[in-house]
Amino acid sequence: MKISLKGKTALVTGASRGIGRAIAIAMAEAGADIVFTYNNSKDAAEKTRENIIDHGNMVTAIKAEISDERTILDLFDEIDKQKIQIDILVNNAGVILEKPTLETTAAEFDHLMGINLRGTFLTGREVLKRMKAKGIEGRIINISSVVGSMGNAGQVNYAAAKAGLEGMTRAMAREFGSRAITVNAVAPGFIETDMTHVLPEAQKEALLSQVPLGRLGSAEEVAGTVAFLASEEASYVTGTTLHVNGGMYMA
Ligand code: NAP
Repeated sequence: MKISLKGKTALVTGASRGIGRAIAIAMAEAGADIVFTYNNSKDAAEKTRENIIDHGNMVTAIKAEISDERTILDLFDEIDKQKIQIDILVNNAGVILEKPTLETTAAEFDHLMGINLRGTFLTGREVLKRMKAKGIEGRIINISSVVGSMGNAGQVNYAAAKAGLEGMTRAMAREFGSRAITVNAVAPGFIETDMTHVLPEAQKEALLSQVPLGRLGSAEEVAGTVAFLASEEASYVTGTTLHVNGGMYMA
């Protein structure tokens, strides 16, 4: 069975690079029109846009700092102005901070929470508002991390944000289940992107030794799981976290 998202429009945050770009492309391949956000990587965002156009889909790229409420309200004003109806939201934009607890400042903690957690709430709220008003049986997929379940030394703030995001996923799934809107999370393990390139070699080796499949995952492998959750085939899946981690964590 081939996943089809024909006739749907997906909003993917942080699709200029990495996992977000792979998700936007996978959804375009499945037939969806795409709205995506980027922040600092304008040239990379242009590459994502061109790649989606190659698949013959409609694509709109909008710059947005995900943690800022005014920016997110403007983003949705623009989407409304262009008469775009969002059927699928993928909250992917995120950052990591490698820092031991005792060296992390409150400002650094708040900054990371603002992007990884507050941003997810803001876009989720705006999309749900519109899905509810229009009676759309929509899909929200939040990109978490294996670290949200396992914890990881030196990533206390990141783990807290991702565990919070999974709690938010379950609560939204309960609030909007009666409207046939599903809300799920996908928790990648150790995936080859810019985010993992910056990890020290020793830490990479230590992490890989915990992966039964013995390799890093690809952004495309995460994207396939997200596309499944967005599809009709996943209509009875809500409030769950799907792990894509090569067996690193088995729930
Ligand atoms: P990445 O390659 O570093 O890309 C991050 C994306 O998020 C970029 O498109 C970036 O946009 C956007 N972004 C960052 N800060 C933003 C902000 N303040 N406002 C708006 N957009 C912002 O990261 P990735 O590895 O693809 O990770 C994507 C998601 O997967 C994240 O939520 C991450 O936590 C999660 N994840 C990754 C891994 C992994 O191993 N890579 C594992 C588990 C979970 P610009 O470049 O345009 O600024």
